[in-house]
Amino acid sequence: MAVPKKKVSPSRMGMRRSHHALPKESGMECSNCGELKRPHHVCASCGHYDGKEVVAAESVKGVVRL
Ligand SMILES: [Zn+2]
Repeated sequence: MAVPKKKVSPSRMGMRRSHHALPKESGMECSNCGELKRPHHVCASCGHYDGKEVVAAESVKGVVRL
């Protein structure tokens, strides 16, 4: 089994983990109500998608918002 030759210093570990951050969750404005929503998802505040109301606005209360 391959074994690391040297202990990784805290500095080296930090340098490696500097790339581990998750990308920021992107958002876009809803074309119907202007609320910030997740792209390619039904708007959480008005229930619209692609210019049509696909879900009643009250029934999308449980959807995770941005
Ligand atoms: Zn909306």
